[in-house]
Amino acid sequence: MQRSTLDRPNPLPREVAPGVFWLGECLEQRQQGKIYHGCNAAFLIVGGAASMLVETGHPKDFPIIEAQLKRLLAGKPPLKYLFVTHQETPHSGGLGRVLSRYPEAVLCGDVSDYHLAFPEYEHRMRAMQEGDEIDLGGRGFRAVEPVVRDMRTTWWGFETRERVLFPGDGFAYSHYHEDGHCGLVAEEADSLDLQDTTAVFADLALWWTKWADMRNYCARLDALIEALGVKTVAPTHGLVITDVARTMPKVKEGLLYGSRVAERGTNDASFGKKAVPASDETVG
Ligand SMILES: [Zn+2]
Ligand SMILES: [Zn+2]
Repeated sequence: MQRSTLDRPNPLPREVAPGVFWLGECLEQRQQGKIYHGCNAAFLIVGGAASMLVETGHPKDFPIIEAQLKRLLAGKPPLKYLFVTHQETPHSGGLGRVLSRYPEAVLCGDVSDYHLAFPEYEHRMRAMQEGDEIDLGGRGFRAVEPVVRDMRTTWWGFETRERVLFPGDGFAYSHYHEDGHCGLVAEEADSLDLQDTTAVFADLALWWTKWADMRNYCARLDALIEALGVKTVAPTHGLVITDVARTMPKVKEGLLYGSRVAERGTNDASFGKKAVPASDETVG
C-alpha cells in the first residue's frame, strides 16, 4: 500500500484484467453533504514487446502514478506509448511529465493540439483515428468510436486480447467515500447507486446529456460493446466494470436518469464559502 492523501491506504494499483493495471487514487470533493470521490484513473497495459499508459491521471496524482509505474514496469517491456482520450486536465494533465520521464514514449490519440503546449515533443506524437491499432506484442490497442464524449477530439480505446474498453468520460460516475468503495470494481460495490452518481456527473461535466435523447446513445453503447466483445470496462471517472452484462443495464439507467433530472448545482455550496444573497449584483 502506498502513501495516500486520503485517510485510508490507497487500494491502487490493482490488476483489473491480466496485464492491465488501474493506477492513481481518488479525488475528494463535497457533494450532497457527503464526501464524494471522483476517480481520475490512468491504466497501464503491459504487452509482450511494449507497455502503454492510457490517460495520465490528474496532475495532483502524478507523483503517485509515477511511483506505481516505476514499480509495475520493473523488468517489464518499456513504456513506449501514452494514449489520452482527450485534452482535459484529468486525462492529459501529466503528459509533459510522462514524455520527459519516458523518452521512448510516443503520445497517441487525437494529437491536433498538444504540440502547441509541447513543441519540443512534436516528433513524438502519433495521430490515431477509429480503427487504427498499435501492436504491443501479443495484444493490440485500437482507437474505437467514442459514444459518449465531452470534446469533439475524443477517442475511446480498446485492448484486443483481454477485450478491455477504455471509454474516457463515458461511464462517468463516482462513489461516496463513506461507502468504502475506493478501488473496488462496480460489481463489488454493493451500495453503489449508479443512477445518483451518474446524475452527479451529468451536472459536473456532461451537460449535453440533458438535451440529448440518451436512448440513442445507450443503443450505440450496446452495439459497440457487442461488436467488440467487451469483457472489462475501464472508465477514467468510474469504478472498473468486470461483469458487463450485469452492470451495463444500471449504467444505462443512470445515463437516462441523469439526462431527465434537473441540474442540482455543482459542488456543495456550503463547502468553503457563504451563500450569496439572490439580490447580489454578482449573481448571474
Ligand atoms: Zn473527464
Ligand atoms: Zn474513493
